[in-house]
Amino acid sequence: MAQKLSTYLKKEYGKKIYRLSLSSGCTCPNRDGSIIVDGNPLTMGCSFCSEGGSGEFAPDFVDIDRQIEKAKKLIAKKTDATSFIAYFQSFTNTYGDVGRLTDLYSRVVQRDDIVILSLGTRPDCLGSDVMRMLEELSCRKPLWIELGLQTIHEMTAKRFGRGYELDVFEDAYRRLSELGIKVVVHVIFGLPGESKSDMLDTVRYLSSLEPPLFGIKLQNLQILKGTRMYDEYLSSIAKGTDSQDPEASFHIMSMEEYTDLVAEAIALLPKDTVVHRMTGDGPRWLLEAPLWSLDKKRVLNMLSAKTRDILI
Ligand code: SF4
Repeated sequence: MAQKLSTYLKKEYGKKIYRLSLSSGCTCPNRDGSIIVDGNPLTMGCSFCSEGGSGEFAPDFVDIDRQIEKAKKLIAKKTDATSFIAYFQSFTNTYGDVGRLTDLYSRVVQRDDIVILSLGTRPDCLGSDVMRMLEELSCRKPLWIELGLQTIHEMTAKRFGRGYELDVFEDAYRRLSELGIKVVVHVIFGLPGESKSDMLDTVRYLSSLEPPLFGIKLQNLQILKGTRMYDEYLSSIAKGTDSQDPEASFHIMSMEEYTDLVAEAIALLPKDTVVHRMTGDGPRWLLEAPLWSLDKKRVLNMLSAKTRDILI
């Protein structure tokens, strides 16, 4: 049976551990023209990605110890936890000068209050110098690498502009696993053009990985204002969202539909895979659809009822 993140943390550490959202100051190669696809540089990022690079809640980049202290102060209002996950989510946190990144992350892992380092990145940003840095960091503290795969289907990935193919992910997964680094994969349900069986195929594929997948983050597609996907979505509404026109193939799931799908997906996961997230957490001021995801408590209650027997 797959396990909740809270179960895993309790088992491994025996105490409360909270996540601190931090910024590394990195950008993303999918936005700055470094990735060339079909002879053209990609500069617009994934079509669902907002200005904040999928991490609106991360602070601006300032001295890392100051960021950590500030984030801890905010959390202290809610908890008395003294151990934390240093979580770098937005943009691509292994992209940039490796010397600078080594210095930054070394300062993080040397702190006693940080028990896990978690870095969100792309599988095409794990060159040999980066891998050496990660190996060294992982010898000092548990390291999680989060990869934004979203789907295994090339057509969908091309359409939203992911900028790498599945074999790049497979290679990264193999190299990280060989170093004993834990991998968390992000999956989005509801990408335009995907059927329910396409989405479950992505989960089946991840469930068949060797070594077995450490962690997964599931979320529903969120249409955020100001993104390319927002423009596509508006034009699809004009055409009729469920029309046969591939340009108009958006299907925004209801809360019931989404939570049923998550339960089906979780039932497919290998024993012990850790479910780090089950629903999207986009900024409410940018969210266009689905509006039900604003009521996070209700969504989580529904998810918890539907996964009671398949998630410990
Ligand atoms: S989702 Fe991630 S990989 Fe895609 S453009 Fe945004 S920051 Fe880059």
